[in-house]
Amino acid sequence: MTRNALFLFIIYIVYLLFSFHNHFFTLKITELTIVAVAWTIFLFVWNSRLFLENHFLFFLGISSLFTGSMHLFHILDTDTNMILPENTNQFRSHILSLALFAESSSLVTAFLFIKRKLPLKTVLVTYSILHIFLLNIIIKNYFDIHFFRLKLLTPLLLVSVIFFLYRFNISPDKKLVKFLTISVVFNLLCCLLINVNGTIPLLEFTTDFFHLVSWFFLYKAIITTVFTDPSRMLFGNLKEVKESESEARKKAETRAAELDALRDNLTDMLSEHNCDRLLETILFRAVSLLNASGGELGLYNSENHDLVIAASCHSFTTKGSRLPLGKGLMGTVASGGKPIIVNSQGLGEAYPPLYPHDKWHSLMASPLIAGGNLVGVITIRENNPLKEFTKHDLDLFTMFAQQAALAIRNIQLLEDARRKAETDSLTGLFNHRHFFELANQEITRASRYNHPLTAIMFDIDHFKKVNDTWGHTTGDIILVSISKITRQMFRNIDIVARYGGEEFSVLLPETPLDTAHDAAERLRETIASTVIYSQSNPVSVTVSLGLAGIDNSQSVKDLIDRADKALYTAKNSGRNKSVVWNPEEFNIKN
Ligand code: GH3
Ligand code: MG
Ligand code: MG
Repeated sequence: MTRNALFLFIIYIVYLLFSFHNHFFTLKITELTIVAVAWTIFLFVWNSRLFLENHFLFFLGISSLFTGSMHLFHILDTDTNMILPENTNQFRSHILSLALFAESSSLVTAFLFIKRKLPLKTVLVTYSILHIFLLNIIIKNYFDIHFFRLKLLTPLLLVSVIFFLYRFNISPDKKLVKFLTISVVFNLLCCLLINVNGTIPLLEFTTDFFHLVSWFFLYKAIITTVFTDPSRMLFGNLKEVKESESEARKKAETRAAELDALRDNLTDMLSEHNCDRLLETILFRAVSLLNASGGELGLYNSENHDLVIAASCHSFTTKGSRLPLGKGLMGTVASGGKPIIVNSQGLGEAYPPLYPHDKWHSLMASPLIAGGNLVGVITIRENNPLKEFTKHDLDLFTMFAQQAALAIRNIQLLEDARRKAETDSLTGLFNHRHFFELANQEITRASRYNHPLTAIMFDIDHFKKVNDTWGHTTGDIILVSISKITRQMFRNIDIVARYGGEEFSVLLPETPLDTAHDAAERLRETIASTVIYSQSNPVSVTVSLGLAGIDNSQSVKDLIDRADKALYTAKNSGRNKSVVWNPEEFNIKN
């Protein structure tokens, strides 16, 4: 900076000395130097337009061609009267005012191109038209323009340029901003001095020189900062490339991590064999994958044609609540079959929450579709007002939902097959095989902890006769009714099965014989007093029951055999009764 100041000071002294000799000529030389500097700027910018990325400077370079040419007109005309018909100083000062105004307004206009690309053709055409138009106004004196107004406007524009320079980020290069500021300050000084008095020779020369200094620093700003320092430009570009490269790498890494998480999720989901646990796992995985606040998962119920909430994570929605299709966010997603993202609570008015105090900020819901069939809907919510789900989140969520739907469908098919293998198709009770499996587990537990356990076997009395009288369809209806009554009369932990034909078995864990006997009697009485209607025919049946309690280290087979023997006794002693197995009666030593 001191070198620049010294250089300008020397020029000033040289010009000043010369001005004592020939003041008018020195003024011309000073102005010619301005034209030379202005056009040098233009040429530099023009020749580097293909790789110049700062369009603010690009614009200033283009404008320099025209502002420089205005100064040239001023110089030429003063001596030759080539342009202005009358050699009046007033008109000449008009050109100078106009040139200064053009400079300051170009500086202000350049700020339009900080972020915008410069429309080169438009700018060139506009400048040419304005240039010719303004010169014509002055030459032909078409309008009585109040040039003193321009003299006032120019300093105002220059002050706003200084403000803009520090308000907008034209370049990360601080040197550029500094040079431009100095340039504008000298331009401003020049404008103010012109307004003071242009007739004192030293003042007139100093004013012109300040103008030259202003142009010199504009030249320094553009040439020195940008063009003579290619490494800066190169480094700048390199930095940008590096930044975009590291951004791309970061994105790729995030994507890879997300895909890894998805793969882990799939492995976890496929290894889960319990449907309820799988649904919980899926929901919690989705919430943690997207770093959300909570969510819910609803399963599609094809019988009722609605959604049943099967899993809920940090949400007011409770398990088991039902949502109709086509209503609310989940219902809409279920019927539309497309994922939805809803940001901000306002938009959510279209999908009112199930509970009034259920506040959320961002919601995402995706249908769970496997093999073209709707399995359910998964929703995740964000309560933090500073976070919103993005399109990228929705993509990831949708991919996750596709995998989750497959896992759910798999387990549903598996559970369906398992249920079919374990139950009797007519009555819905456990079948003989599954009864033995469950009974084995219960007996092992009861023996280990020395807990009571009772088995009941019962058989419908004279069922052959019922079939013969009313037909097999009525027989089947009776079997179903008795199954329902039995299932209702025992606890959930009791194992009720269709042992075979019209024989049933019930295993009562934690139940001693006398309590079980009371339950058996209640069942017998209920069945006997129930009238079953089949094809408008009232039919009543009775059952005979045999009971046996567990002894130490007894097998299921032994226990059932004993209950069967007791049942046999009940049949032989008149039917419609319950008999407890007695070792003495059956001559078996305990
Ligand atoms: P008891 O009082 O001695 O038990 O006489 P019962 O006629 O009931 O004799 P049993 O228990 O041997 O009868 C078995 C009959 O149950 C044979 C068959 O007609 C009938 N049955 C078995 N399974 C079914 C079924 O699935 N549907 C119908 N309708 N009848 C069945
Ligand atoms: Mg029978
Ligand atoms: Mg039988």
